[in-house]
Amino acid sequence: MAGGEKICKWFYVCPMKSFFERGKLDKYWIENFCFREGKGCRRYELEEKGIYHPDNMLPSGEIDKTL
Ligand code: SF4
Repeated sequence: MAGGEKICKWFYVCPMKSFFERGKLDKYWIENFCFREGKGCRRYELEEKGIYHPDNMLPSGEIDKTL
């Protein structure tokens, strides 16, 4: 991680982290959302509101059926 980047507070419990570690998720998502405090992440917004969202929903809000 470069300086100034901050990890999303949900990172350690987020399924995106596990998908990434299993080689199933492009690091694009981790670098552009999870390491930027979750800014703009749809999962983050729904998590904050306590609204259900499936594990295979990407930070963009799209569903990735390969996950
Ligand atoms: S996918 Fe979203 S909610 Fe999950 S860790 Fe990354 S930024 Fe946070």
